[in-house]
Amino acid sequence: MLKGKTALVTGSTSGIGLGIAKALAAQGANIVLNGFGDVDGPKAEVAALGVKVAYHGADMSKPAEIEDMLKFAAAQFGQVDILVNNAGIQHVARIENFPVERWDAIIAINMSSAFHATRLALPAMQKANWGRIINVASVHGLVGSAEKSAYVTAKHGVVGLTKVTALENATTGVTCNAICPGWVLTPLVQKQVDAKAAAGGISNLEATQQLLGEKEPSLQFTTPEELGALAVFFCSPAGNNVRGVAWNMDGGWAAQ
Ligand code: NAD
Repeated sequence: MLKGKTALVTGSTSGIGLGIAKALAAQGANIVLNGFGDVDGPKAEVAALGVKVAYHGADMSKPAEIEDMLKFAAAQFGQVDILVNNAGIQHVARIENFPVERWDAIIAINMSSAFHATRLALPAMQKANWGRIINVASVHGLVGSAEKSAYVTAKHGVVGLTKVTALENATTGVTCNAICPGWVLTPLVQKQVDAKAAAGGISNLEATQQLLGEKEPSLQFTTPEELGALAVFFCSPAGNNVRGVAWNMDGGWAAQ
């Protein structure tokens, strides 16, 4: 379905981003990966799906590096047809103790990077009259949780940006939507499980059950594969008129 298209997925060396990159690759899209840590493993996983894959190591907190990445993607594959703004980090602390440097980093990486990548990707999409911008927000783009001020602020911002991007392009073939996962067992969440286990002197399994039990009625993690399938739907012809939604896949978290 996506043969001949190019997808740039930020923060795709791990977790949800890699899951979405693989789901888009399985539909034939060439992939530009981004993120830190091991690159060869994720590159090989995507290449195994029979598409072309490139990597750019832009730090998503740096607008000049984001610009360089968009130019690189266009030089590699012609243009970016699908942009998935996914890179994100977390820090957990009460507001009065929240390190200012962590606040700035989360706002830059989780929110402002989506603005920069979007503004740079849009002109080519508008010219082609086809484009898909998918913002990986969070259930925390819809509801709050204590000790996550920067994250909740950034994710609500991303949901707002999604609506404005969708509206500004509503009469074109360019759509923009957000995905709002509940808990997904990635390194980002494993750190929170580990912290809970250490603080409570409990096992990893007990900490995991507590984490799910506090917020997620299904008591199940959402998987990167399920989120990838939603991204594929947004890119499909059936998604042509889905514009500006913030679609949660959260086991009922926001329904409470
Ligand atoms: P993860 O830690 O597995 O992956 C994060 C990715 O972002 C990695 O590839 C990492 O290298 C990259 N990254 C981090 N800082 C970066 C930077 N400055 N520049 C470029 N890349 C950077 O986490 P994940 O759980 O897969 O999270 C992906 C997205 O999904 C995030 O936006 C996160 O907020 C969101 N999300 C996660 C969950 C969850 O439960 N895991 C729930 C809702 C939303």
